[in-house]
Amino acid sequence: MQSGGQKKEKDLLSAQIAIELAVSDEEVGAFWDIENYPTSRWPSFSLSELSCHETGLCYMDESTLTRLQALRNKLGRPVYLSSAYRSPRHTVEKIKSSLGVHSLGRAVDVGCAGTQAYEVVAAALATGWTGIGISQRGASRFVHLDDLQPDEGRFTRPSLWSY
Ligand SMILES: [Zn+2]
Repeated sequence: MQSGGQKKEKDLLSAQIAIELAVSDEEVGAFWDIENYPTSRWPSFSLSELSCHETGLCYMDESTLTRLQALRNKLGRPVYLSSAYRSPRHTVEKIKSSLGVHSLGRAVDVGCAGTQAYEVVAAALATGWTGIGISQRGASRFVHLDDLQPDEGRFTRPSLWSY
């Protein structure tokens, strides 16, 4: 069961995402919880690893999850997600003036380094990810992936950047 507060946040987020992507409310993807998450559809990824680490909410877009499963299939080995959905209330997101791609449910960060990072980028290019951010310094190395299209939102896509 969703609490009243969670229902309210879901409705608010749905409206924000619709505005950001200039789509109707009906076109915004599903809000996943334990009752409706289709485990068999994206078998390599559990609801808990896709959910916001700070709030437990998950608003991942269906097409992004399908792309994530395609990436995993292409790699042929487990994909470690250091971050997937992030609520606008998440520490990283709440300093932003408008919704980031993780809050739109369109991005994941894959923890990886060296040869594995190379393979993740190659597989990402082959499976249609359009935003690739490389963070390969320090202890927590990752590759950010998102799949916003050129005509969506205010982000320039396709694009590759470093942190
Ligand atoms: Zn990211």
